[in-house]
Amino acid sequence: MPETDFDVVVAGAGYAGITAARDMCDRGLSVLVLEASERVGGRAYTSLFSGRDELVEHGAQWINQTVSHNMRREIQRYDIGTVADVPPESVTFFTGGERRTTLPIPAAELGKLESAWFRLYDAARRISAAIPVYDQPVADLDISTDQFFAPLELPRATTDLLYSMIAAHCCAPPEAVSMLRPLEQLAAFGSSPYAMFGGLTEKFANGTADLITTMIETSALELRLSSPVTHVTQGASGVTVTTASGGVVSGSACVVAVPSNVIRRIEFLPRLSEEKRAATAENHVGRGYKISMVVEGIPPRPLCLGPGPLQMIVTVRELADGAWLLSGFGCQGLSDPDPTSLETAQEAIEFYFPEGRVIASDAHDWNRDPWFDGTYRIEAPGRAHAFPRIMNVPEGRVFFAGSDMAPSVFRSFWMEGAIESGHLAAGQVLASLNVPAARERKSHIAT
Ligand SMILES: Cc1cc2nc3c(=O)[nH]c(=O)nc-3n(C[C@H](O)[C@H](O)[C@H](O)COP(=O)(O)OP(=O)(O)OC[C@H]3O[C@@H](n4cnc5c(N)ncnc54)[C@H](O)[C@@H]3O)c2cc1C
Repeated sequence: MPETDFDVVVAGAGYAGITAARDMCDRGLSVLVLEASERVGGRAYTSLFSGRDELVEHGAQWINQTVSHNMRREIQRYDIGTVADVPPESVTFFTGGERRTTLPIPAAELGKLESAWFRLYDAARRISAAIPVYDQPVADLDISTDQFFAPLELPRATTDLLYSMIAAHCCAPPEAVSMLRPLEQLAAFGSSPYAMFGGLTEKFANGTADLITTMIETSALELRLSSPVTHVTQGASGVTVTTASGGVVSGSACVVAVPSNVIRRIEFLPRLSEEKRAATAENHVGRGYKISMVVEGIPPRPLCLGPGPLQMIVTVRELADGAWLLSGFGCQGLSDPDPTSLETAQEAIEFYFPEGRVIASDAHDWNRDPWFDGTYRIEAPGRAHAFPRIMNVPEGRVFFAGSDMAPSVFRSFWMEGAIESGHLAAGQVLASLNVPAARERKSHIAT
């Protein structure tokens, strides 16, 4: 390998970048991670609830170790504490213009709903959770929601129910979404729409920050915060990476592990392939809100679904004095509120519970944060199948990682996808640099 400051430079300290960096350090390489913001974790963001003393997750929250093998491996390796999630005790649906607390739709529509479940199940069953989705002959599912359901001629309440689920999970108006993405989600959970809800089985006991912080602290990787990468330049013998402050570091390779919406803000020399430039030229449609709320005057441990300001509300935990900590999910395009305002939260709660009172709310605005410019990657119809294939092809000494481009059914929606992708990128770099499998781990303890 040529003389460089580091063997590898990684841009982005989310789960993908840190997994890649940690894996390469494990194999004896020197790795520098440059992170644009002043914190690690990216879209896994644990913080104190504004003005209160409980922890809150602004991004990733749930895990499921039964289906997420990469996540399970990391949790076991570092002995990270997890807690079981408790299922809802009460439900409130708002469909067909009515609030409902028993059946989600009028009984007369149940047959239509059943046919929709079967259509989802049959389509999801075609997607294997074991191999890259882009290698599977499922491009015909890369179609709009309306096209997918059109043959069923669904009535209004059933459409409200299904479209609210899709909006909440995809952080986008259902009409804008490629159905391949929610179908991949079903495939991850045995193809069952019910299993996808029931699949949110666990959370980290001390927040999503716990695992990634431990990965960093026990690794030899070097981390520099507040260091946005602006340029990545490849030469004959290596890569130079420039940050916004003008600092330049060199490496034999670079892993770019930033959200896919902001890749185009980095200048690559030579330019990226035409395919990659086209794939990253525009924002994807995932622009959601996750609002954390402390709420009183509502039924116990609620789950809500409907085409309101927040399309889904789930319970995080019970607080003292009968209050509940809830997470609400909405998206730009269906409603466009200020996610950080208490009025937004109050309006969303009243849609389901006229008597409900929001005591406090908190949110991170991922759409306005320049290092993300959106929530997780959701493509418009026709753009979902090819994207991860395009992004997983290295460009010389430059490699790409991120949940947004994970090959598997865990892409975008899950930290599992980020860990999977970081692991794959590390493997690509190690192979390209001919790092022998048994190379000794460098000590990070100064002697
Ligand atoms: C609202 C919401 C809810 C979610 N819920 C769940 C859930 O319940 N369970 C689950 O498993 N997953 C969930 N996810 C998805 C999960 O958070 C992501 O898939 C995963 O964390 C993405 O990791 P990543 O490393 O690919 O990207 P990120 O975490 O986005 O990391 C990329 C990093 O790159 C940095 N960066 C950007 N530009 C630059 C630059 N120019 N130079 C250097 N650094 C840069 C960013 O600051 C960021 O730290 C949720 C996500 C959101 C937004």
